Amino acid sequence: MNDAPVTTTRDLRTGRPVWLDSPGIGVACRGRIARSAYDVVIVGAGISGAMLAYRLRRQGGKVLVVDRRRPLHGSTAASTALLQFEIDTPLFALSRTIGREAARRAWRRSVAAVGDLHRLVRRERIRCGWRDARTLYLAGDAYGRIALRAEAEARAAAGISGSYLDHADLSERFGIDRTGAILSAGSAQADPMQLAAGLLRRAVAKGVRICAPVEIAAIAASGDGVALATADGTAIAARAAVFCTGYEILKAIPDQGHAIRSTWALASARGATAPDWLADHLVWEGADPYLYLRRSADGRIIAGGEDEPWSEAHADTRLLREKTRRIARKVRALIPGLRFRVAHRWAGAFGESRTGLPFIDRVPGHPHCYAVMGFGGNGITYSMIASDIVAALLAGEDDPDADLYRFRV
Ligand SMILES: Cc1cc2nc3c(=O)[nH]c(=O)nc-3n(C[C@H](O)[C@H](O)[C@H](O)COP(=O)(O)OP(=O)(O)OC[C@H]3O[C@@H](n4cnc5c(N)ncnc54)[C@H](O)[C@@H]3O)c2cc1C
Repeated sequence: MNDAPVTTTRDLRTGRPVWLDSPGIGVACRGRIARSAYDVVIVGAGISGAMLAYRLRRQGGKVLVVDRRRPLHGSTAASTALLQFEIDTPLFALSRTIGREAARRAWRRSVAAVGDLHRLVRRERIRCGWRDARTLYLAGDAYGRIALRAEAEARAAAGISGSYLDHADLSERFGIDRTGAILSAGSAQADPMQLAAGLLRRAVAKGVRICAPVEIAAIAASGDGVALATADGTAIAARAAVFCTGYEILKAIPDQGHAIRSTWALASARGATAPDWLADHLVWEGADPYLYLRRSADGRIIAGGEDEPWSEAHADTRLLREKTRRIARKVRALIPGLRFRVAHRWAGAFGESRTGLPFIDRVPGHPHCYAVMGFGGNGITYSMIASDIVAALLAGEDDPDADLYRFRV
């Protein structure tokens, strides 16, 4: 077995995300792997691994989740957790790239995923500060008022929420000075670590095992399954392995024109002064890079943006201050009456694909291996979609939308 690292080893984040201080983010995990054979090994205990482990929980002790870090300490800890169905690439633009019907399916699938996640959180009573939200998508330098009008029409034709507001509507209802916006229902916000921890705990309660820190260093085909080797030389046999390794990308993945970028975020102290409407609206813009913000259930302003096209830029501590200062300044200028003190700053790596869609597929050339690469600003929504698709693939069933998320080889 080739024992070169199977994923990149990079820092996923710097600074201190606000969620690290949240209550209820602990998950029982072991240091040693108890058995030598499993049905499914999930590599990566972030929100993607958590959702899949939850889906597979009824397989009991035959599902193992491993992570080279503590569970949930990858990019999930850095997420600002706007849980949106709105894909980075507007529907009208995605239609030009992948065709109208496929683009509509991709958008509708995201709408369904946020709804499914909400039902799951309610059913399982996961305490994660969940709040339903509308989104306000503002005209910006990448998509201006004319593009947003076209987008509202494309969404209406596809039966997807989104009504166009012109400058006067926007200014009157929200006090925001932009040429236009799309207002839509059907998104949400939450604490990403509490959400993922809640799912992992429910999976563990049904017999799923979590072991960390355990790094998977090598994979090889083995009979009708896959053999995995940990960095300390432990061998694990599995019927299937699923790499939910976030932005530490499996080396076997062919180039899909995807890129890892750096992004910055901040959280204010609790009790920020904000207009009432912000409690249940997520705000973002059709700009490159875009600015986004929300107000959490406990009264913090959470905001982010200022992306740079380098994967390592987020590790620069000087940039951390500069970028988060700029985000705070832009947010204050955008929303009249917003007053807050920045209490947490952090930065992280995140992935982008050409289309804004994730990759959720079998790993080319590696039988019984699957990859979940939830690229885009709505990565958590994609984690939800991935748990459906991978669960179907593992069960030998079809998912009607699996073709949207395949690797192009
Ligand atoms: C600043 C920031 C803001 C964001 N905001 C939003 C947002 O508002 N809404 C949204 O939907 N998404 C957002 N995202 C994206 C979202 O956070 C990610 O899509 C999501 O967290 C990815 O989860 P994951 O479980 O796939 O990856 P991760 O959480 O990164 O988990 C992958 C895990 O795999 C482990 N791993 C990697 N390689 C190995 C190996 N060889 N062996 C063992 N373990 C391994 C890592 O240690 C890691 O813990 C944001 C991201 C950032 C950085």
